[in-house]
Amino acid sequence: MEYRRLGKSGLKVSEIALGSWLTYGTVTERAQSIACVKEAYDEGINHFDCANVYGSEPHAAEKVLGEALAPYDRDSYVLTTKAFWPTGKGVNDRGLSRKHIFTQVEQSLRALNVEYVDIFYCHRYDAETDLEETLRALDDLVTQGKILYAGISEWQPNQIANGVRLQREFNLHKFAASQPVYNMLNRYIEHAVIPICDDAGIGQVVFSPLAQGILTGKYKRGQSAPEGSRGATDKVKAFVERSLSERNLAKVERLEGVAKEAGLSLAQLAIAWILRLDSISSALIGASKPEQVKENVKASGVKLDADTVEKIEEILA
Ligand code: NDP
Repeated sequence: MEYRRLGKSGLKVSEIALGSWLTYGTVTERAQSIACVKEAYDEGINHFDCANVYGSEPHAAEKVLGEALAPYDRDSYVLTTKAFWPTGKGVNDRGLSRKHIFTQVEQSLRALNVEYVDIFYCHRYDAETDLEETLRALDDLVTQGKILYAGISEWQPNQIANGVRLQREFNLHKFAASQPVYNMLNRYIEHAVIPICDDAGIGQVVFSPLAQGILTGKYKRGQSAPEGSRGATDKVKAFVERSLSERNLAKVERLEGVAKEAGLSLAQLAIAWILRLDSISSALIGASKPEQVKENVKASGVKLDADTVEKIEEILA
């Protein structure tokens, strides 16, 4: 496993990270979830992602992830969580108010059974809370040592720019991480998000690098989703189905040829392609089985040659 700096921060993260959305605390059994985390840790992954709302109820995935990481030295891994989405029916059970952020950080620390998280993300932008209130709450949590770095997830470029400007103006702790979607089928961050974050020293921790499994080649045109896959699982299949277009599956078929020529699986090619950019700190994968982790980590350190990158560009154009 190779490691990269998280933006301009001093934190080193494995270039492949493991997340827990739609898997741990949701559909993947507890023992299997723990086995995936163990496989990841043993393969050198030191970067584990969660959120307060992942799992079948708030903090459910955090409890499983906390249990899975309990055997390891806390200093040896980087643990992240997030808040924004509703956790209950109360008027203050959502968003990025000082109250909700503080409440959620406390509950997340309890669920994960740790004293601090390394990165705390604002899971989306909250148009109802004054940005300065959110930034000051994050700054206080860093000062208290409950979070070490703050990050944003899927904020618009102008929202990131405003946040960075206010942090500079008020001399607050800066954002260290941005967590947007990025994969061969969704490249919107290349032209807007990445340049702003590069300027501000913010590293990208990109989610769904395999487009939720589509970029492994297991979903085929004209065939139903393979048994046991996310695309065939009632609670979660809607998330995959929206990207299972003819157009995307046709691209995947051609990409499989490129992967074969490069001597890689399609999943490995898709991850190595993401890691071609220096702005990416980690590609944040999900895994429902330890074998998937084993296969995907082999993308670390793979440098795609110019010819391969050009062929991929042609297919994605
Ligand atoms: P991926 O694109 O990596 O998809 C992961 C899924 O693909 C797995 O659960 C598995 O699904 C399948 N898969 C993975 N590897 C293989 C393989 N080698 N062969 C076959 N199938 C494979 O990422 P996710 O969409 O799961 O997102 C990753 C993480 O990013 C999340 O866990 C979460 O931490 C974070 N995230 C953050 C968001 C945000 O808003 N900030 C939003 C979404 C995700 P299966 O076996 O079930 O088919």
